Amino acid sequence: MKQDIKYYGLRNQGATCYLNSILQVLFMTKEFREAVERCPIDHKDRIDVQLHSLFESLKERTSETRDVTRKLGIERVYEQYDSGQYFEKILSMVSDEASKVFKGNLTHRTVCGGCSAHTEEDVPFWYLSLPLMDSSDKNYSVEDAIEEFLKDSEFNGDDQLYCDECEEKHDTTVKYKLKHNPEVLMLLLKRFVYQRRSYIKDSHAVDVYYTINVPENQTYELYALVEHFGTLKGGHYTARIKPQDEEGWFEFNDSSVTMMSQQETFERSQSAYLLFYRKKSKKKTGFLSFNTGFISRWFSKVNFLWFSFVIVSGCALVFLIKRRNNFLHFVYASDTVSFRLYFNRLFAFPFLGHLPHFN
Ligand SMILES: [Zn+2]
Repeated sequence: MKQDIKYYGLRNQGATCYLNSILQVLFMTKEFREAVERCPIDHKDRIDVQLHSLFESLKERTSETRDVTRKLGIERVYEQYDSGQYFEKILSMVSDEASKVFKGNLTHRTVCGGCSAHTEEDVPFWYLSLPLMDSSDKNYSVEDAIEEFLKDSEFNGDDQLYCDECEEKHDTTVKYKLKHNPEVLMLLLKRFVYQRRSYIKDSHAVDVYYTINVPENQTYELYALVEHFGTLKGGHYTARIKPQDEEGWFEFNDSSVTMMSQQETFERSQSAYLLFYRKKSKKKTGFLSFNTGFISRWFSKVNFLWFSFVIVSGCALVFLIKRRNNFLHFVYASDTVSFRLYFNRLFAFPFLGHLPHFN
């Protein structure tokens, strides 16, 4: 079994499993690895150089991470740190081309409760830090956590925010909206929380679906997750990864790499910590379908032409075209048999694949 596996592990320097897990995910994120490989070797201030050499080694053998820990300024290799924190640190030290694989944009919007004035600001991110909830009486999924993250928050009482228009503090509604969905969406489940002057680990279960939908109707597929087992001080990190050109999953546990048996589509997890979802390109179901971009460009034109047709034919007809699930659908208010035939022959042919959606 072992000799069939073409992936290699990373040696643990003491307690560096938190870093090994992240490095394996970054290595297996093809867009990131290729960007690092393209970075010129004289960019000495970037960590791309050390990552590039590590990645070359990882293609052939179980590898060491000393150059990387040195570059990251990690001196105490026997101390365990937060995987999420080091993911962020690595991204802050790589070339923009490499980090942009994970880069998305949020719009941060505030609305003043006093004068209704609003402010909007773009906030770039490399990952979303999602709240965990007590899910003992209800299933709490990754999508619920995203919804929770994006929902309106009210800042009242002592938390009121200052309004430039009113020139005083007021109740304020704050909302985040996803403006640009990144190629790879990294979700950090807030398992390490600060409570009573120290950090504790939150082991609430989360339903991790391997396919998720985020606003506005973007599908993502899970390809890697970093898990944390045990307690805050004495825990252990591993990574599970599904390589881009393979069907199966592999577990990366420091220097050991094993193939995983079952194909899951969902799991209830108390250990999932960092989730890596790859953006799924909008599906085209054959030549009869059109993607959103196409529709956006054509929608106004098409609408106009078809209303013209109603006038020319002289029928007392009302019909609408609407966009739903990225496809055009027809909605009638009135109809005649002859018109329907004529209409179908003249105009509906390109959309035959969706004609059953008349309603
Ligand atoms: Zn105001």
